[in-house]
Amino acid sequence: MKARILEIFRSVQGEGKYVGASHVFVRFFECNMHCVWCDTPASIGDGKREYKELTLDDVLSKVNDLYGNSHSVSITGGEPLLQKDFLKEFCPALHQEGKKIYLDTNGTLPGGLQEIIKHIDIIAMDLKLPSSTGQKPFWTEHRDFLNIASCKEVFIKAVISLNTTRQDVLKAARLVADVDPGILFILQPNYLDMKKGVIDHCLEHQKTCAKILKDVRILPQVHKFMKLR
Ligand code: SF4
Repeated sequence: MKARILEIFRSVQGEGKYVGASHVFVRFFECNMHCVWCDTPASIGDGKREYKELTLDDVLSKVNDLYGNSHSVSITGGEPLLQKDFLKEFCPALHQEGKKIYLDTNGTLPGGLQEIIKHIDIIAMDLKLPSSTGQKPFWTEHRDFLNIASCKEVFIKAVISLNTTRQDVLKAARLVADVDPGILFILQPNYLDMKKGVIDHCLEHQKTCAKILKDVRILPQVHKFMKLR
């Protein structure tokens, strides 16, 4: 079996709970969404559809070359769960080598997660707010996904743009609280709106969410400041 891979590289995790940790990133090609502010357009096939078809041995070998004493392997995209059949072989192989597996996902494919959840250590789950992404809502999918993910370490990221509504943020916070109000909830300001006042919006949303959830943080994409990929 082969996977469609955009790139494999080692860098610093720039988002979420493990920001600053050294990760080896395996970026899978293609996504089932098309967020208006997507910062990895190459991974969703915008512009040129350029990717490599790699075997399991190819990917494992490249990861091993880069891994060193990294914190974990970040399986990202695009949306990696679109290639769940490859992950079913890839993840156990990584575990056999003692590597930790961090899944970065848009949280819209609960069926895919169910099939590989036993192989995942940490889940960084996006909650895609329709007023933020410009896409249709995925509330039902997100609820199902988080219910499955909650048996593992999971935290939430929600990108906040100038268009994000209080109604969507509140709905997202309630969805998470219904599963577990202790789940870390990160408001991630859209990097394109950083100079346009989006932080003020985040501060307001944080107050709203903190009435429902125990741990609500505002955290930008740190790798952009460090000019890392
Ligand atoms: S889910 Fe992620 S990879 Fe897919 S379009 Fe949205 S931001 Fe881009």
